[in-house]
Amino acid sequence: MSDSVLTDLLSDLVSIPSVSPSQTADPVFGGEERIAAFFSDYLERLGFEISLQYVEPGRPNVIARFGSENPDVIWLLESHLDTVGVEGMKHPPFTPEIRDGKLYARGAADCKGAMAAALYALSRTNLEEMKRRREAVYYVGAMGEETGNNGARAVLERLPERLTKTIVLEPTESAIVHTHKGISWFRVDFVGRSAHGSNPDVGVNAIYAAMRFVNELKAYVVETGNRFEHPSLGKPTMNLGVIHAGIAPNVVPPKCRVELDWRVVPPQNSSEVLVDLRKILEGMKAEGVCLDYAVELTQNNEPLVTSRDSELVQQMSAACQASGFAPEITGVGWCCDASVFCGRSDETIVFGPGSIKQAHASEEFIDLNELEAASNALMHLLHQGVSMSQGPNN
Ligand SMILES: [Zn+2]
Repeated sequence: MSDSVLTDLLSDLVSIPSVSPSQTADPVFGGEERIAAFFSDYLERLGFEISLQYVEPGRPNVIARFGSENPDVIWLLESHLDTVGVEGMKHPPFTPEIRDGKLYARGAADCKGAMAAALYALSRTNLEEMKRRREAVYYVGAMGEETGNNGARAVLERLPERLTKTIVLEPTESAIVHTHKGISWFRVDFVGRSAHGSNPDVGVNAIYAAMRFVNELKAYVVETGNRFEHPSLGKPTMNLGVIHAGIAPNVVPPKCRVELDWRVVPPQNSSEVLVDLRKILEGMKAEGVCLDYAVELTQNNEPLVTSRDSELVQQMSAACQASGFAPEITGVGWCCDASVFCGRSDETIVFGPGSIKQAHASEEFIDLNELEAASNALMHLLHQGVSMSQGPNN
């Protein structure tokens, strides 16, 4: 039997449409403002101080804070407020249906289930206990996760310089995700020299330069794959997704642009990849393959790297066991707002009930027993805090 108060809370959350505006033509369903109001009211009633940060018109982040004025430990909980669109869904998206112990609605798994689990875990008793231990907790409801993590990036300026423990609430099937790949997009512009097609030797063909670069990259991805293969994340990958060049068949192309997606496996990071790309490009320039080049990192999500042995992973694992299940401790190929916060926080994990498989699917549901177990685990975690172990590690 699942907890009816928790189920009701999730039903309330999914009944409030908050579709990412770029994924719905209907303004009635789009935007985070209504869910932000519900989320704020809920936390305000528990004694949180609330502030809103409008990242775009009608699209706020909610920043809620509770606890000690001079905390020894600062927790961050984060849920995104937006969902993907509802086109082609096989059940009503915003009228929750419960069948066979599962609740069906858009956002049930991604990520209002995890949001309900965390909100419910923030009991008054837990909050008072945290304050007594000189802890503070921020709960951020972020806009715009589904389309580039804009809310999480913007909220950084409103958060303390250093966070102790961060839990990003996403559907992990209640596994503890301590690491995920990073995503880095690079744009490279090659400069050659134009010439008439009848006399190509006097020109420098920028498309040939790009082709040479792609071949060097293929060797580089194999080489880094051997160096950085990770037990749960596998190898880094590279995809060349865009190429722009050329004027006419009889003109040596003076310019060529390529754009590529690199999935970074820790401990490698985007800056190291950029240094290596520059080395390849410098070598090509020295050989005269191109006259010049420019390389730019156009989008970057750093990999999530928290040790399996970290205190937070251990505590979360103990809290899950106290709630009756042994969680998997794992890495994943996808990327979420944890990428934005992990640089700020001593320890960061991703955790939540529900499966990423349903996250953007035509049927989206959450198992209510799993929801309750995950909420219980979060309740145990916040209740025990860090005082059960060695205390804050700063
Ligand atoms: Zn999500």
